[in-house]
Amino acid sequence: MVVTPHPDDAEYGVAGTVPRWTREGKQVIYVVCTNGDKGTSDVNMKPEQLAEIREKEQMAAAKLLGVGEVIFLRHPDQGLEDTPSFRKQVVRLIRLYRPEMVVTSDPYRRYIWHRDHRITGQVVLDAVFPYSRDHLAYPDLLKEGLQPHRVHEMLFWGSEEPNYRSDITETFDLKISALRCHKSQIEPLDSPQWEAWLRQRYRAMAEGEDYELAEAFHRVEISW
Ligand SMILES: [Zn+2]
Repeated sequence: MVVTPHPDDAEYGVAGTVPRWTREGKQVIYVVCTNGDKGTSDVNMKPEQLAEIREKEQMAAAKLLGVGEVIFLRHPDQGLEDTPSFRKQVVRLIRLYRPEMVVTSDPYRRYIWHRDHRITGQVVLDAVFPYSRDHLAYPDLLKEGLQPHRVHEMLFWGSEEPNYRSDITETFDLKISALRCHKSQIEPLDSPQWEAWLRQRYRAMAEGEDYELAEAFHRVEISW
């Protein structure tokens, strides 16, 4: 389960690794927290029109990567808060889909980090542990038949302390194609220089490895 603050963050964070998983037969589900309706510099763009465009772009990117399902929570862009109801929403999905692994944005990146990224990471981390695990956390979810679930592993993109790298040399072109699905975000950037800048960025993440390109994460194993 990949939980992304906005449409397109998951593509920057993990879209090189996702197709490796889906090719191995693993099921990948996207959860998109906000509707992304503030992400434009076009003064003529209406927020509801942008939200609609961005869902379509996210669906196209997910399809390309082999993601089986995309769930849109449609919180307002720049409006995410660490609330009991948002946390419960994530717990509900974890208990329903019962992922082995959850991937999201690192909440502990310092200073310039989008507030929605920080809050998504924090809420997902809390939802995984302890709220999804403990049966007394949500008696009403239990009554609905949503049993507690233990997630075994988390990956956080955007980490200042990466401790896990994933080889994306083979899937980098697919990652670029998935990023290009987000036309409303990419178009002003799209150029040979943009692609070269991305290649440089993911090459730096592979530094010290015997492959060319990597996505880097902070990986946490949850064994209790
Ligand atoms: Zn974002």
